[in-house]
Amino acid sequence: MDNLLKKLSEAPSISGYEENVGKIIKAELKGKVDEIREDSFGNIITRKGSGKTRIMLAAHMDEVGLIVKLIDDNGFIKFARVGGLDNQVILCQRVHVHTRKGVLLGVLGAKPVHMMKEEESKMAIKPEAMFIDLGFKDKKAVESAGVKIGDWISFDRDTVKCGTRITGKAFDNRIGCAVLIELMKKITPKCEVYGVFTAQEETGLKGARVSAFGIDPHIALAIDTDLVGDTPGLTAEDCNASLGKGPAITISDGGRDGSTGAGLMTSRKIIDWLEDSAKKAKIKYQLLVSSGGTTDATIIALNRSGVPTGTLGIPTRYLHTPVQVLDLDDAKDMVKLVESAVNNLPNL
Ligand SMILES: [Zn+2]
Repeated sequence: MDNLLKKLSEAPSISGYEENVGKIIKAELKGKVDEIREDSFGNIITRKGSGKTRIMLAAHMDEVGLIVKLIDDNGFIKFARVGGLDNQVILCQRVHVHTRKGVLLGVLGAKPVHMMKEEESKMAIKPEAMFIDLGFKDKKAVESAGVKIGDWISFDRDTVKCGTRITGKAFDNRIGCAVLIELMKKITPKCEVYGVFTAQEETGLKGARVSAFGIDPHIALAIDTDLVGDTPGLTAEDCNASLGKGPAITISDGGRDGSTGAGLMTSRKIIDWLEDSAKKAKIKYQLLVSSGGTTDATIIALNRSGVPTGTLGIPTRYLHTPVQVLDLDDAKDMVKLVESAVNNLPNL
């Protein structure tokens, strides 16, 4: 699992440009499932088993990133954010600009602290004041290197061990992809299982919408990361999930400032099924009422005339940053939980 996560996490694939991760998934699952296909939207749809019931398991491939908006006369890049990125996170990062001619390294720069006015130095730096320096002397040199408006940009970050845990970029949701790959490899289902690696989740749950329409599942699960409240400045009241306490069964999400349920509101039947499956798999799990953020489950639940859907989360710190941290034991237990759930489908 750790080598697979490293490979997936280090592969650059922001929303809309998921090919690099898609290639790894196709290679991993070749010959291990009954069918692998890519739809016109860029989702990778894998299928295994047969039976009356179709279950859709969704894990998104895309990560948050940036896109080239302008190249100024001096060759600095102005950018737009793609997905929910905190401005304070992007400053001082090394990035990769993906051009048609190849990948270029750049750095996210801004005015040095020495030259800031006192009041300026106390405020967060706005993204409009940041730029990407590609190390070329002017616009002409940048354009000759292949950079064009619309080129996409990812963070440059290795995935490494950190204590007993692991840290890197894009664990949201490459860990979900890793779990789904492992599951599709090992499962021998008595139903039709669709392992769907979705595109463009971070920009509006789009790949899940179109793939769910095509598959028309009877039941579905999204496998994603989930927020945790176990770091300084947060309490269990903010978020009661923690690293190392098992996968989270998310009951509701998508609200703001303490509200919830703008995303998915999970039915009792689905919650009971997932809890029962966790008990059968003999793993620990967490129940989570989340506020901010949501997952592919929200849009799959709204497919056609409605699909009973649940959300499973691998607890992850520092989501949407290049320094995410998770405990691989939670991910290993997630594979067991999803396998148990697929082998223990509820009466619909
Ligand atoms: Zn996610």
